[in-house]
Amino acid sequence: MSLSLAPPPTIIDGRRIVVPDVERVDATLRFDVASREAVGEAAIHFVAGEMAGHLALDLRQPVEWVRLDGNNLSPDAFAPFDLGAGPGTEMRVLDVSLEAGSSHNLDVGYRLETPRAEGAEPIGWTDGGLRFDLWMSDLQPGRYLEMWIPAPLIHDRFALNVQIELAGHDRPHTLVANTAGVDSAASGGRWSLCYPAHFTALSPMLVIAPTDQVELRRSSVGLPGRERSLGLVCARHLEVDADLAACEADLKAWLTYLSVRYGPWAHGDTFWAFVWGPGRGMEYDGATTAAVPALEHEVFHSWFGRGVKPARAADGWIDEAWTTWATASQRSEEPRFSAVDLPLDRPPVELYPQHAWARHTPIAAYTDGVRLFAGLAYLFGGSDRLRTAMAEWYQLNSGRSATTDGLAAHLEAWSGIDISPWWARYVHGRG
Ligand SMILES: [Zn+2]
Repeated sequence: MSLSLAPPPTIIDGRRIVVPDVERVDATLRFDVASREAVGEAAIHFVAGEMAGHLALDLRQPVEWVRLDGNNLSPDAFAPFDLGAGPGTEMRVLDVSLEAGSSHNLDVGYRLETPRAEGAEPIGWTDGGLRFDLWMSDLQPGRYLEMWIPAPLIHDRFALNVQIELAGHDRPHTLVANTAGVDSAASGGRWSLCYPAHFTALSPMLVIAPTDQVELRRSSVGLPGRERSLGLVCARHLEVDADLAACEADLKAWLTYLSVRYGPWAHGDTFWAFVWGPGRGMEYDGATTAAVPALEHEVFHSWFGRGVKPARAADGWIDEAWTTWATASQRSEEPRFSAVDLPLDRPPVELYPQHAWARHTPIAAYTDGVRLFAGLAYLFGGSDRLRTAMAEWYQLNSGRSATTDGLAAHLEAWSGIDISPWWARYVHGRG
């Protein structure tokens, strides 16, 4: 994995902070339903940075023990550290300096509680059962995999193996995850999950709930550009008022339309949708957990956001602005596909946070970002032209990580129009 998209080595308090290249994370999450206690254990296999230094990873749980290459360290030697990018952006930094390019194993044991991150949800203990969801978000720092399992920043791709163990109950549970690699023990309550090695910390979806509280439908849809049909798993919590057959029909229509308009499906052999109550929506690689009104927006993200992924958190504005512009999102003030002249005398807007360790998508992506795409549609001579330009960008970058600079270069090359004044003012906030 290229470290060129990672934050550069940063010296703070005389320590050089570097990001590792994570190769594999093996984690076990144990939930005891009777005592309502949970613990986690993870082994992180990584190569140290391109310069010697103290490595930065993240985990938003209370660490109880740490071992580096088999040697015990104090939990304080892997404590949260302020990198100067604002509230909530701290990373755990190892107290030991590691040689450039050296390979290591870091083992971490921790209690599993409500993650220490804004907006994080608690573990859902129910009577004799567990309701669990990774419940990720782009909007606050520390809301990806690092809420539950140690993880690097989102430029890094790594193999992720997760064992789930549910004890202290006698109720069957259903697990929905966006990987074909799920083995469940015949005795129940144990699952072994292998997520694809091209996933990043924002990719994995995982939902667990008592089976008698879940409706689940399986079907398939033939997609243009795919030889085999795509499996479709659609589930809901029983208290959620949703017609799953209707959701399934809509999902098939959107999946087909997006394949035709923007390019082939970029993920595995199944799309997973877990339908939640109002106000909820999150995208994963070929999957979503969402309320019914958000489903179209979240399916779109399997092309833009999780098909083409943001290279860094700062690039996350692209997929929220573009998805909101292109879908019937209730978050936007404008109708979809709007093309509106955007003069260069409006107040500057920063959609791309400048700090190297910034880790959130500004909420302005859903409003000012949509206005920017409406302005580009106007400049390009219509929304259909902008959509074709973005379809080509998707096809060139599908399965890859894309940057804000890279998108600007593509749009300029495609259109022959100098968009840099709009980019400077309405992406980078330069007046
Ligand atoms: Zn979105």
